Amino acid sequence: MTVRVRMAPSPTGEPHIGNVRTAVFNWLFARKMGGQFILRIEDTDRTRYQPETVMVIMDGLHWLGLDWDEGPGLEELQYLGLENAGEYAVGGPCGPYTQSERLAMYKEVAEELIERGWAYRCNCTPERLEQVRERQRARKQMLMYDRHCRNLPTDAISPDEPHVIRLKVPLEGQTIVPDTIKGDVAFENEGIDDQVLLKSDGFPTYHLAVVVDDHFMEITHIIRGDDWIPSTPKRILIYQAMGWEVPIYCHVPLVNGPDGKKLSKRHGATSITEFRNQGYLPEALFNFLALLGWAPGEGEEQEIFSRKELIERFDLFRVNRAPAAFSYDKLDWMDGVYIRGLSEEGLLERLLPFWQKAGLVPDPYPDEKWEWLRGIVPLVQERLKRLEEVVEWTAFLFREIEPPLAEKLVGKKMTPEESLMALRRVQSLLAELEPFEPEAMEPPMRALAEELGLKAGQLFGVVRWAVTGQKVAPPLFGSLAVLGREQVLTRLEAAETVLAASI
Ligand code: GLU
Repeated sequence: MTVRVRMAPSPTGEPHIGNVRTAVFNWLFARKMGGQFILRIEDTDRTRYQPETVMVIMDGLHWLGLDWDEGPGLEELQYLGLENAGEYAVGGPCGPYTQSERLAMYKEVAEELIERGWAYRCNCTPERLEQVRERQRARKQMLMYDRHCRNLPTDAISPDEPHVIRLKVPLEGQTIVPDTIKGDVAFENEGIDDQVLLKSDGFPTYHLAVVVDDHFMEITHIIRGDDWIPSTPKRILIYQAMGWEVPIYCHVPLVNGPDGKKLSKRHGATSITEFRNQGYLPEALFNFLALLGWAPGEGEEQEIFSRKELIERFDLFRVNRAPAAFSYDKLDWMDGVYIRGLSEEGLLERLLPFWQKAGLVPDPYPDEKWEWLRGIVPLVQERLKRLEEVVEWTAFLFREIEPPLAEKLVGKKMTPEESLMALRRVQSLLAELEPFEPEAMEPPMRALAEELGLKAGQLFGVVRWAVTGQKVAPPLFGSLAVLGREQVLTRLEAAETVLAASI
């Protein structure tokens, strides 16, 4: 059997990172089994359809390296309102991959379900349905259709008059959802609603569309969040009614926040765009998501895995049954590991867009200044957890700083006079120093601290404030070297003027 799995987003809003994690599982499983990963756009809810969301989803999958083997082709992307998405055009033998382009298929299946005695037409008005619900609410009953039209003669409602088509759920017995992760889950049929399959406007409801598509696209495994379990019996009934083979269900537990509650904005970033903008590396996020609810082995302590290793070791049937807790701290740690693993040039290429976006360096960046920029990388590589942090840490290297307030320039346990004197001594030391390199700076600066009766930290703190305008900055001597002698001396002088004026 060739494994075929799919990601089937409803483009009504930014995809939640939990759905992206589920896409990672689908992709890993497809790649491990040498199967296919399919992207299908479930846009039956046209009122909430947002074309830009389709783009966000495709950009996100592409950024994470989740390539899809079948999905909307060029014409479909244009139909979806995406004129500039040509690079994502894939197509495939089971198209179209957009539900609103497959309406005829759903209608045909709905009519066949009527013929097979598994569905019926219903022309109850919204007012009548509301009355039914009112009654049920008053009696504290489950809200469901009262099957009024189910018992009408088959020709009572003409196909030409406005109506919906409903599933004829058996009144007795159980429907079992076999699930490889959860085991069998049984549902009493009497509690299952006679679900609308086809609406009066000819659009299918999601339940019909998903079954028809999964069948005709020959999906073998349905890997998705376990919040879909309650709606699965209706789908199984449709498969049975049509005599189609039921795919293998693998409902994966949802992703919670660190506090065990459903992961939401309250906890932090939840959309892939946010993670991307905050500067997580895609390979780190991919590694992290793969381990969210799955572990490669009992007692396995290794957490950093290459993409190839993850594909080799992924085991769908060992996905945890309990919800996964999303730890932002762990993601930060993992991202730091990946950042430290990059070459200087590699990290520089990743940092450049963040500096450009913040307006610190021009776009395009002039080649002749590349070496200077590269000099910053070793200053930050050891400490960065996310690429975006580089902007705040290094802005002082790119633009003029406001001279700091006098109080900031007074060193720990020092008087303003002592601080001023220290800055003046540093200025003359650095004016003469050859070469203007970190290794050459440190010994005389330490010796100067000793001569002035200061701890090295006291002296360096004053210089750091004077030159960077901030308390926390990359290593001091490296920063001075990148800034260059002239800038450093100018800033020291400005700081001295501020201090002198305050005395
Ligand atoms: N369109 C559904 C969603 O938005 C897909 C559910 C499924 O995988 O069956 O998540």
